[in-house]
Amino acid sequence: MSWKDQFADAPDVLKRAPDDRIIVRAGHVALGDGGFVTMAGPCSVETESQLLETAERVARAGAQVLRGGAFKPRTSPYSFQGLGLEGLSLLARARAATGLAVVTEVMSADDAPMVAEYADILQIGSRSMENYALLEAAAHTGRPILLKRGMVATVADLLRSAQCLVSHGNSQIILCERGIRTFETATRNTFDVAGIPVLQSVARLPVIADPSHAAGVRDLVPTLARTALAAGADGLLVEVHPHPDQAWSDGEQSLSPDDFDAMMLDLAPWRELRARALQSVCALETVA
Ligand code: PEP
Ligand code: MN
Repeated sequence: MSWKDQFADAPDVLKRAPDDRIIVRAGHVALGDGGFVTMAGPCSVETESQLLETAERVARAGAQVLRGGAFKPRTSPYSFQGLGLEGLSLLARARAATGLAVVTEVMSADDAPMVAEYADILQIGSRSMENYALLEAAAHTGRPILLKRGMVATVADLLRSAQCLVSHGNSQIILCERGIRTFETATRNTFDVAGIPVLQSVARLPVIADPSHAAGVRDLVPTLARTALAAGADGLLVEVHPHPDQAWSDGEQSLSPDDFDAMMLDLAPWRELRARALQSVCALETVA
């Protein structure tokens, strides 16, 4: 039995040849074409000024996609649950102001068409990864899907959910490693860095990493981001808030705009190395 046989439930997601890659397109953004895409913004959309300030700062620092939650699956049912439709229209306003594409989470199948009217990419959160009715509704909107790995999901489980989306006619899928539950408590989740090259070697889909939810504390985010890049990720999803200590959700792991600038500067030489490495792989493929 081959190592890859464990992914056999996801036949349409698996590579048919080493260079078999699906490029995911959302507006002017492409994932999986060799570029590196940063998605950044607050965990929750809170106010117009909070969102616009964040959007302007992350765009200036080089992000291409604005992330922000309007529907929030919170750990506690008594925590802020998101602004809903009002949050979606603030995201659309921030897109108009900055040109950033928008990614936001959809939590219920009934909401999928409405969220798709506002978002360029629909996020399926960790807690929803195996909600097949939601996956079906999200797939039918025709929007690209950012599929986050469930916190107790194996790589094979993640690919099975991707297969579910493909089976409903949507193969514009971005896979996201965001940390998994283990016995370790020093970080909020355990960042499965090996999951990135595993996914890159078996799946046709672009793979990004979310160092914010993996780390749970902002000081670790830049290092995990650099690690994800070095491991072969196609991009990042990072939480940024103008005043992290006042954030309505996930403030401890959110970067300030200044922290985000510093992280993007730190990543620049690594991105350069990555681009050069990919070019030499392409050159070798051309020669071969
Ligand atoms: C989020 O992106 O804010 C989020 C809730 O992430 P996850 O589904 O990975 O916990
Ligand atoms: Mn969050």
